[in-house]
Amino acid sequence: MENCIFCKIIEGDIPSYKVYEDEHVYAFLDITQVTKGHTLVVPKKHLKDLFDYDDKDASQVFSRLPKIAKALEKAFPEMEGLNMVNNNKELAYQTVFHSHIHLIPRYSKEDQFS
Ligand code: 5GP
Ligand code: ZN
Repeated sequence: MENCIFCKIIEGDIPSYKVYEDEHVYAFLDITQVTKGHTLVVPKKHLKDLFDYDDKDASQVFSRLPKIAKALEKAFPEMEGLNMVNNNKELAYQTVFHSHIHLIPRYSKEDQFS
């Protein structure tokens, strides 16, 4: 998809810090780290938002979330919790219109926040 920042990241045309990749999914650190390890999980296929997914897309993307959460837990062992956030459409604060799931690690110690 032309002019889509996340398609460009998936293609490697815009640099990113990769967290996980497979045939259907790419996960990378958010440029604005709400907490250390804040990650975005995106389908490689350009889907605008949740309303664009069919069952197959959903299983290819959402089934990977536990694996990516565990990879984050391994990379950031001081993490004690994790929020999953998915904004859909402008009214719900979606700002990049290539579907993405935020994985936001939570830490009890304040100094773990970036
Ligand atoms: P949304 O508000 O649509 O749920 O989240 C979009 C997210 O994409 C934001 O948290 C923003 O920081 C992130 N983002 C926007 N542009 C870039 C970029 O070029 N690289 C990376 N890694 N993240 C980006
Ligand atoms: Zn895209």
